[in-house]
Amino acid sequence: MNHLVNTFKQEVLKLGYEEYVFPGLVSPENFDILADNIYDFTGNAFLVSRGSTKAVLKPTGEAIIYPVVASWLRNEECKLPLRIFQTGPYYRYKSAPHPYLRPMDSALMLEAHGFFKNRVAMNKEFARSVKLCESVASALCMDAYVVSRPISFNKPVSEETVAYDTLLPNGKTIQTLLAYKQGQVFSRPFNVKSKDSKDYTYQVTYGMTERTLYTTLFIHADPLGLRIPEKLAPIQIAVVARDNRAKTVEAAETLVASITAQNIRVAVYYEHEEEGVSRQLITAGTPLIAYVDSELAGKGILEVLDRRTLSIETVGVDADFTPLLLRGDAVLVEEQSQRRRNNTASIDSVDALKNIHPACAQIYVHSSHECIDTVQNISGGEYLGSQLTLSEESRPCLACEKMCNTFGFIGRRV
Ligand SMILES: [Zn+2]
Repeated sequence: MNHLVNTFKQEVLKLGYEEYVFPGLVSPENFDILADNIYDFTGNAFLVSRGSTKAVLKPTGEAIIYPVVASWLRNEECKLPLRIFQTGPYYRYKSAPHPYLRPMDSALMLEAHGFFKNRVAMNKEFARSVKLCESVASALCMDAYVVSRPISFNKPVSEETVAYDTLLPNGKTIQTLLAYKQGQVFSRPFNVKSKDSKDYTYQVTYGMTERTLYTTLFIHADPLGLRIPEKLAPIQIAVVARDNRAKTVEAAETLVASITAQNIRVAVYYEHEEEGVSRQLITAGTPLIAYVDSELAGKGILEVLDRRTLSIETVGVDADFTPLLLRGDAVLVEEQSQRRRNNTASIDSVDALKNIHPACAQIYVHSSHECIDTVQNISGGEYLGSQLTLSEESRPCLACEKMCNTFGFIGRRV
């Protein structure tokens, strides 16, 4: 989890965001502003009380962050744009919790909030945040449906949401990375405006939760266990000495020093002392396992098992290991991308929409509530969203039969 947070943090810092720590208890007043104007968390928030004092455990960051930012901006020295982020837990009741994917006490959320003076600046930032999600997805070896979500019907929480919908082995999809163009949806009710402007601020928010991590582990696992993308692996290369002869031990130590010098996380194990260590390393998803023994050491070589492909290759003791780590990552991306291609039907008739096979379908449909409602009702599935770029050709919308150049995906979410 720390490696994921650090990977995400590096990207956020590159965009000029600064890390802050905000409190975890929301006052009833701010909770009500959220409920009355944006989204009512009453059904799944945890309330705490002490005597007559009442508060709500943070169900979402905005109810705490926005009142604080509003007070900062009343000070002339505080200027827009403002880019901040925090990491920490949030709490929401779930009727069907899953210990990994849907916990009630969500251990971790990294949320970034950008505040801008006008719509132009916000739109620019939104594009940058979508690109950031792309970089993170690539570090996670995640190939996903990247879609612009339809806006919720009544009180929309954003003007536009871009989601990374990841296809799981069971054929359902799950949103793993999200970027929200919030416009003034939150700044109006929380009265967020800068001293020199009459207009409310415009926001962009994006982030990740532990769901991002568990989904990553889940999609890359195989029957032998985990397969971890190299950036997230606690140990990127395990050096395993097969015997305890002086020559082998020396070779293992030299190798560890050389791998460490390449800025790669490494640990050493002695097979004769730890029974079943290779099996454990394979189950735990260690990307590369480098074997040394006295015979190999005599030749100045080692055998490297790539956990992602299960292939073994002989390399020199002075090998550059980074390309080997990345090569296995490319295999993870390709396998996930293949899973998605194999499970995405291209559908152009209402009959086919009634029985989507196997998991998701790509369809032409207008981004209007009416047309999306219609295709959801016919298919019994959920519209994940539209592709970010318009199609070059126009085809009849599956709902209203008029021509359209927006196409998107329909599937089933977890
Ligand atoms: Zn239509």
